[in-house]
Amino acid sequence: MKKDYIRPTIKRQFMGMANKFGSLNLPQVISEIDGHKIEDLIKGFGSPLFIFSENLIRKKIKEFKNAFESRYPNFQPTWSYKTNYLNSICKIFHEEGFWAEVVSSFEYQKARLNGVSGNKIIYNGPSKSYDSLKLAIIEGAKIHIDHLDELNDILKISAELEKTVSVSLRINLDTGTFPNWNRFGFNLESGQALEAARKISHSNGKLKLIGVHVHIGTFVLETNAYKIAAKKISDFYITLRDELKQPMNYIDLGGGYPSNSKLKSQYLNTSYLIPNFDTYAEIICKEIYDAFSPDEPPTLFTESGRAMVDEAGFLASSVVGTKLLPNGKRAYIMNAGVNLLYTSTWYDYKISILKNSGFGYEDSILYGPLCMNIDIIRENCLLPNLVKGDSILIHPVGAYNVTQWMQFIEMRPAVVLIDSKQNVKLIRRKETVEDLNCFES
Ligand SMILES: *Cc1c(COP(=O)(O)O)cnc(C)c1O
Repeated sequence: MKKDYIRPTIKRQFMGMANKFGSLNLPQVISEIDGHKIEDLIKGFGSPLFIFSENLIRKKIKEFKNAFESRYPNFQPTWSYKTNYLNSICKIFHEEGFWAEVVSSFEYQKARLNGVSGNKIIYNGPSKSYDSLKLAIIEGAKIHIDHLDELNDILKISAELEKTVSVSLRINLDTGTFPNWNRFGFNLESGQALEAARKISHSNGKLKLIGVHVHIGTFVLETNAYKIAAKKISDFYITLRDELKQPMNYIDLGGGYPSNSKLKSQYLNTSYLIPNFDTYAEIICKEIYDAFSPDEPPTLFTESGRAMVDEAGFLASSVVGTKLLPNGKRAYIMNAGVNLLYTSTWYDYKISILKNSGFGYEDSILYGPLCMNIDIIRENCLLPNLVKGDSILIHPVGAYNVTQWMQFIEMRPAVVLIDSKQNVKLIRRKETVEDLNCFES
């Protein structure tokens, strides 16, 4: 029998509906930052462009300080220079009472030039030159010893200067997380750390131990790791104080708090996963406070980087060209790539669009400008159809990018800071070929 005729229809299919894989991540529309249109910033300073918000930095600092200061009597935060050592950014932290935490001679000099006195600098790192150690010692910096050869250097410096040098020990310990960071400092569980402390206490007055330090990792989502670290380092401190009679006065628990970014290995959005500063502070402060009660607890130092600044940093980037790949996938060539976004190895950044362009989202790949196969910012993201000249916003990118960016194929772009009075300040101009050529002869 002949079937009835049914008139064909076209039904529009909407992406973005919830399905068994969760809901799709449609791009957010962000057209301005702190009252400034991103399009205008690009017109004024070029593309690509790093944009930092002072308000967002100060907000984080406030949350962080409140979390620890309300729970601990003598707390001293320090700012991890390698996370972002643009002077204007560092100065915000110093204005808010943060000391400097540096891991090289160059960073030490930067901190000094930013007006931080030597006695407010923590000098960490596995590779401290003899001369930089000597200068830091003369200027009263807190030296965190990483290994025995460094300890021997400091003994020599003490003899040269004919003075007792105050030092601290960096230790590493097992917090039950993987991977276990055991390459920096002296291992606790094996007894190496105690042995190093004995060496200091038996140095005939050349050295005295004033603190112990541990930095357990980075992007540490596991709060229990801090509980274990805080307990172990407090017990170690008490052992040294009571057995070796060293005049210690601080514990430094490093950094490692996660930012609101999404690791490639993560399924859920980080906002569901990351504990806030209060959660970390509660665990850490309680553990240390309890270990020392009823005595006065030592000063607590922290050295956080990533969590303080990542979300305050944005990168505006523009489409240079579009392509359709042989498999039908939409590809965009952007003017910013892994040369500016070192952390793209680990993160799936949020990609936001500057204006709403209705429906028609397509699974797209974002390539950078380099003539290198690996130069990919995002392998998969839903984007509306963009054309040459359109811009997007990549975030959060405030941590570890403007320090690890490289001058490879492309030069580095300008960085602006929107300050707390909403003025736009050029805090690093874009590089020129003269800048690069000046080193050569
Ligand atoms: C890098 C570093 C930090 C900062 O770590 P974040 O994970 O960014 O908070 C702190 N202390 C030391 C010793 C470091 O090397």
